[in-house]
Amino acid sequence: MEKRQKIYEGKAKIVYSTDDPGKVIQYFKDDATAFNALKRGTILGKGVVNNKMSAVLFERLAKAGVPTHYLGTLSEREMLCRRLDIVKIEVIPRNIVAGSLAKRTGLEEGVAVKPPIVELFYKSDPLGDPMITDEHVRMLKLATPKELVWIKRMALRINALLRPLLKRKGLILVDFKLEFGRAGGKLYLGDEISPDTCRLWDADTLEKLDKDRFRRDLGRVEEAYQEVYRRLVGSGS
Ligand code: UDP
Repeated sequence: MEKRQKIYEGKAKIVYSTDDPGKVIQYFKDDATAFNALKRGTILGKGVVNNKMSAVLFERLAKAGVPTHYLGTLSEREMLCRRLDIVKIEVIPRNIVAGSLAKRTGLEEGVAVKPPIVELFYKSDPLGDPMITDEHVRMLKLATPKELVWIKRMALRINALLRPLLKRKGLILVDFKLEFGRAGGKLYLGDEISPDTCRLWDADTLEKLDKDRFRRDLGRVEEAYQEVYRRLVGSGS
């Protein structure tokens, strides 16, 4: 597989084309941003952790029948992926109240969300990713009603698969962000699943082991990413 030119550079990843028009390479950087890029920094080793965690979880999801863009790992920071036309919706399953859900509802962080819910946000940097409803999705033609039904059902299924898997590693999956995309008339899970895009709390101490340590200046940011890596890549299933 030959790496060609850069086709997109985001906050945490670079996407390269390859000699195969249906495949791209995701390169995971150590750069971190928060609050719509108002806060910037570097988390040393983050790219390696995010690439590995995403690969491990995409493989597990694929085994359970979830179509993902993951095709293989090329290096510590590079993943080969199916090229997708990304649906401009951030899909957020939530198991526990945190972050923007706490702000919007007045519920305390840590309250269980039973049953889990899925929220939708419009993927738009200039607008700051506002929350949207199914009707906005239809109005903006971000996805067809049939696609949206599939996406929301798949997001809950992915949540139901990842929650127990992470729990066995001593991690509580509080909430996370998924992105989906189209290729050849089919929908696939894309992007990444990592401590950048998930809230993960230690199951015993409830310590935050994710990007909230960076967002909220909690310290020991690198250590948290390394701890997640150790738990996921360490022995056992
Ligand atoms: N999230 C993300 N990218 C975004 C916004 C949110 O990966 O642009 C993830 C975030 O890490 C968390 C979940 O989505 O796991 C829910 O985030 P929330 O809506 O609470 O927003 P925040 O509090 O991060 O502003």
